[in-house]
Amino acid sequence: MKRLLILLSLVPTIALASDPEWFQVGAAAVDITPEYPVRLSGYGSRREPHQGVAQRISAKAIAIGEDGAGPAVLVTVDNCAVPASMRTEVIRRLTKDTALRDERFAIASSHTHCAPMLKDVLPNLFGMDIPSEHLPAIERYTRELTDWIEQVAREALKARHPCRLDWSVGTVGFAANRRPFPFKPVDHDVPVLRAIDPQGKVLAILTNYACHCTTLGIDSIHGDWSGVTQESLQREFPGAVALVAIGCGADQNPDPRRTMELVKQHGENLASEVKRLTLTQMRPVTGPIVCRAKEIQLAFDSPPSREAWQTLAQSKTAAVAYHAKKNLARLDRGEALPTHLPYLVQTWSFGDALAMVFLPGEVTVDYSLRLKRQYDRSRIWVNAYANDVPCYIPSKRVLEEGGYEGATAMIYYDRPTKFAPDVEERIIGAVQELVPNPFLAKPE
Ligand SMILES: [Zn+2]
Repeated sequence: MKRLLILLSLVPTIALASDPEWFQVGAAAVDITPEYPVRLSGYGSRREPHQGVAQRISAKAIAIGEDGAGPAVLVTVDNCAVPASMRTEVIRRLTKDTALRDERFAIASSHTHCAPMLKDVLPNLFGMDIPSEHLPAIERYTRELTDWIEQVAREALKARHPCRLDWSVGTVGFAANRRPFPFKPVDHDVPVLRAIDPQGKVLAILTNYACHCTTLGIDSIHGDWSGVTQESLQREFPGAVALVAIGCGADQNPDPRRTMELVKQHGENLASEVKRLTLTQMRPVTGPIVCRAKEIQLAFDSPPSREAWQTLAQSKTAAVAYHAKKNLARLDRGEALPTHLPYLVQTWSFGDALAMVFLPGEVTVDYSLRLKRQYDRSRIWVNAYANDVPCYIPSKRVLEEGGYEGATAMIYYDRPTKFAPDVEERIIGAVQELVPNPFLAKPE
């Protein structure tokens, strides 16, 4: 008994400021580590099922709000990319018997490159068909992950009890702009949302960082720096659920990278900044929680002509030839290539205290930097890789520069070609329609 008391006294508790606003908050975690060999996503060079588990991976959920107004549920998943089809299926199940609604549900992928391949994501990653003997494991894991995301959302909803919410923003520097162009913007902000119960115990910590989860390129399961951060925070705050979302980090890599020491270093650096903020006075989050979503269409540029596809089909780069042959086959079948990509822009605002923006895809850093100029930087939080990861989402600048994130990565996602020049304006325009005006930056 004495030992238990000593242990309990080590759990950090937070001194509560007076008169907080109380929310119904629940958090949950589910282990999503595959128990059988399955192909990994993220890198095209790996052609065999994974070998071993270097770190277990999870799906986590935080549910905020009562059933009356409708709770908001965010699920973070240690995976390269959870597709819209999976979100749609989970929502179909959850809206049958919970108070959840579509615009109040978000899934944020961590983009770790050491987690299983899923159906409907990065279909051209390997520049060849996935061998039929590897498909059953991918399909099985896709089904299991769908069930786990549903399960973790339900558990978070059930676990709701009064908590106050506070948030703050820190900074960590390990993300580096990876594009081979002279202008190298970065977004080193570390926003942190903390839920604490009336006794001052930390129930959940949500953070976000704009960087690829690509420290590692191993053949084993691992959550990369995001996984290390989650583990570290859950050690520091026993009983708390630590969730990590990714910001607009499509053109950002951890630097340096590629060793187990470095993944630990990056993850622990982020965790120590999050811990520092969590233990300090943060700004209160207020209600009401207003959730909005709008599906827009992003136009593709003109696709290659049949002759151009035929030339590309002869390319020595396997992925280029594979992509071209797939599209020629579509044309041969009389199918029209898609001219637009459906794109779901979602925003959650908490009173006038905090506005969260959720953008699908591998969103380049210019988007968060622009939104943090356009809106009050101290009250806006941008999550990318959210609700779908259909491809890279270049800014106008990145699109004009070209290169991997601007154009060629479209091959791996099986999109017909790069985006039309107005992609950034369409997305920013939708965000403007959804985020309440009081969050706009004051004119200087
Ligand atoms: Zn990526």
